Amino acid sequence: MNIVYLDNNATTRIAPEVFEEMKPFLTANYGNPSSMYKFGAVAGAAVKEARGRICSLINCKESELVFTSCGTESDNYAIRGVLDAYPDKKHIITTRVEHPAVLNTVTRMGKRGYKVTLLGVDREGRLNPDELRDALTDDTALVSIMYANNETGVIFPIEKAGEMVKARGIPFHVDAVQAIGKLPIDMEKLPVDLMSFSGHKLHAPKGIGALYIRRGTRIQPFMLGGHQERNRRGGTENVPYIAGLGKACDLARETIAHEQQTVRRLRDKLESGILSTIPGSIRNGHKDDRLPNTSNISFEYIEGEAILLLMDELGICASSGSACTSGALEPSHVLRAMGVPFTLSHGSVRFSLSRYTTEEEIDFVLKELPPIIQRLRNISPYWQESMAGVKKTG
Ligand code: PLP
Repeated sequence: MNIVYLDNNATTRIAPEVFEEMKPFLTANYGNPSSMYKFGAVAGAAVKEARGRICSLINCKESELVFTSCGTESDNYAIRGVLDAYPDKKHIITTRVEHPAVLNTVTRMGKRGYKVTLLGVDREGRLNPDELRDALTDDTALVSIMYANNETGVIFPIEKAGEMVKARGIPFHVDAVQAIGKLPIDMEKLPVDLMSFSGHKLHAPKGIGALYIRRGTRIQPFMLGGHQERNRRGGTENVPYIAGLGKACDLARETIAHEQQTVRRLRDKLESGILSTIPGSIRNGHKDDRLPNTSNISFEYIEGEAILLLMDELGICASSGSACTSGALEPSHVLRAMGVPFTLSHGSVRFSLSRYTTEEEIDFVLKELPPIIQRLRNISPYWQESMAGVKKTG
């Protein structure tokens, strides 16, 4: 059975070029980049080259990039590291729709005496920058806001938010795990102090991430240990994965235009095809202020998990709610924050495409999904009831 992989916000396949780049460092070139001899220097040179490649993608200096093990570590490092550097300030601002890597970290800090402000979003998942401005206080130690939402793809006004936050002299962290490789990012232009990235969202392997730290930002190290990463993150560098992330960033630079055009066209074809052929299907998230690869659709009166199971039988991989929360049958915290009604939030499915998604795959989903939805609705008492109501009133 062919796999139709439409869950690229959960993770992506490793690009073949990335794997080739990693191979020598998983086999022959296993030296430690900190070693004095030439054999170690080969690994050191690979780390340096990869750092340069990542910095070219986001236009920053090499000294501003710290390698981590994942997006979650980058988020933890940014939040805890900045709070540690400002021990007198006790207020954090973030949003209700962040990834658990941010939400659970600030919740923990809340239990330790910090005041936490969670900004809401509107029905289309958008943030109102005026609410952010009103929330800033002299006691605010950090503002942490995501670039693009993992469930809906909705993009936040990072530049505008950053200007407000920086005008008050407050450190500003952005979780850009879903944005990197999908949107052009220029750190020279963005008023952002810290930005989190993760390799496995852009065709590099799982287990490698990075944190951008603008020069001059006050931050305490999070992982204490050796002198690696200019004493900011102890631990022997994960050379093969760093090399892979570097190559993935190089490829992303070449393919961002494709992502904006071809991937967006396929996403729009999928979305409009579903919305026009399946009654009671509704898009979650603003139509335009969105990542080009993401479509989150609710199907009234049925369970998203049931849809996933039936799609899985045909090899179609998608997600209901965030990948990190699927498995639990709670409606997504993102859709709840957007005010999506219960009957819709339970039946939500996220489709997320990549540059490897083909037209044939989209056509396959458009052919197979309507009968799946119909099958589930035939056994949904809520759908039968609602149809009976339509007939009575109609
Ligand atoms: N932040 C966002 C917005 C994400 O979507 C994810 C993963 O889904 C993470 C952070 C965590 O990244 P990682 O899986 O690399 O820890």
